Amino acid sequence: MGNASSIEPTKTIFLDIDGKKEKIMFSRHCGTRDIHDLIAHAAGVSRYAEISLKDSTGAFVSLNPTMPINTQSSPYKVTSKEPSPTTESSNGDGEVFTQVLSQVASQFNNQFSKEGVFKVEEIKTDIATRLSALERKMELEGLKAVEIEKCKRDISDIKDQIWNAQKKFVDFNRLSNETQADSRDTHIMNRKQTLSTYRKYTLSQETIEYLKQPTFDIWHWEPNEMLSLLEHMFHELGLVAEFNINPITLKRFFLCVQENYRNNPFHNFRHCFCVTQMMYGMIHLCHLWEVMTREDLGILMTACVCHDLDHPGYNNTYQINARTELAIRYNDISPLENHHCAVAFKILSNPECNIFANVDKDTFKRIRAGITMLILATDMARHGEIMDNFKMKLEPEFDYKNKDSLDTLKMVLIKCCDISNEVRPMEVSEPWVDCLLEEYFNQSDREKMEGLPVAPFMDRDKVTKPTAQIGFIKFVLIPMFETVAKLFPVIDSTMVEPLRIARDRYEDMKEKNSMPPPPSQSNKKKTVTEK
Ligand code: 5GP
Ligand code: MN
Repeated sequence: MGNASSIEPTKTIFLDIDGKKEKIMFSRHCGTRDIHDLIAHAAGVSRYAEISLKDSTGAFVSLNPTMPINTQSSPYKVTSKEPSPTTESSNGDGEVFTQVLSQVASQFNNQFSKEGVFKVEEIKTDIATRLSALERKMELEGLKAVEIEKCKRDISDIKDQIWNAQKKFVDFNRLSNETQADSRDTHIMNRKQTLSTYRKYTLSQETIEYLKQPTFDIWHWEPNEMLSLLEHMFHELGLVAEFNINPITLKRFFLCVQENYRNNPFHNFRHCFCVTQMMYGMIHLCHLWEVMTREDLGILMTACVCHDLDHPGYNNTYQINARTELAIRYNDISPLENHHCAVAFKILSNPECNIFANVDKDTFKRIRAGITMLILATDMARHGEIMDNFKMKLEPEFDYKNKDSLDTLKMVLIKCCDISNEVRPMEVSEPWVDCLLEEYFNQSDREKMEGLPVAPFMDRDKVTKPTAQIGFIKFVLIPMFETVAKLFPVIDSTMVEPLRIARDRYEDMKEKNSMPPPPSQSNKKKTVTEK
């Protein structure tokens, strides 16, 4: 919770709890309930306690994210009152429920101690077990309708707690991650300090050339090095000159982008780097500057950099089925992609990070429309529609002068880069499959726990590395890259061929996995058993 938002400042509120001075800090991610829980934690009461705040004049202060800040010398006086257990229940079932709730509450308060000892997974399993016992009891014994409604509300409240706890856990992990702590904790207002501590790297000529290849080893670089490589790409492509970007603003922009990627197994800052580096590679392989403007190249590169900003690690299907805030905000229409895009323009709305601050109004409008179109095109639910559109534009001949055709080409290019891991050499691509499966399994475990539908391709009991990849390479990647190769023949040897090799390798792997153990081994086993 103490994690500073990089877009909007952290708020500090000073408290007086029975004469003891405390302070709480919260960010834009916090809702009223989060702030209430922080104060309850500071006051050592349960999250079900009623809490009120009064300022030095004795007036009540409303508890919400926009509450007025105060100073250390004029803290808000905190009063709290635990709910009485008798008001919670009128019969045996209600008591059971109250017990579960208070156990859950105390467990949360105990586990998220100031030292950060917080075992979310254990708590999740424990609570899931108790919830299902309770749900069974409700079904078996039959509660009165009004009680069932209350229980449902309480269950949904516990689910909220689990989610908030998980968020706190992720934030805690972020803060304890040394490589990112300095930049994450440093707000935009304090950017100068971050910039001066951000090491500069001199790139060798070899790295500069290697960076243009799809074979570039993206695992080799630490976060600050990736920032320098991104900067280099923008300078080298002439984008800094084209948009008259202040080089310090460019640095601040990348830092802010990095801060706004979460530490997900897959959808993290390294994935952003990979997608952007692949776009840089494709620009060079296909000499894209010959068929489009520098402005188009800037739109492509910036859209790649921003395309998964603040990804929560759970896909659109989860967002929609779980009716999350994002799904509600965007009416179930590409909620994640809409969010990535909104965060991108929130970052660009800060003059200190706005790499397009020096372009005229009409140019900015075009850039904004272009980036939005490309980020929204990365929703795989639109894959068929976009590919069909692109294939139509190829017949009888692709017209680079036609805006619609060029827009579709740009959408296909960002899509290619977004899912291009398997184009890379095996040593580089394979770890990404583990990362993707880890994120999928996280999601399916949560879906099982919350009683939501689970996609078979995400289910740890149904999917393996080769089964995850074979279909994806054969039916998504190869057809898409082959279509692009019609326009840029160089793609065939540089990108489609590595995909064919990867497909064959996964098919071998699948066959080996399904083969019975070699006879010598099975004999050995038999001998041991017989003994
Ligand atoms: P995103 O915009 O989410 O990064 O990429 C689109 C989606 O394509 C991913 O969320 C993931 O579901 C899918 N995807 C990307 N790369 C791979 C891959 O190598 N294998 C499989 N099976 N799916 C992938
Ligand atoms: Mn992506």
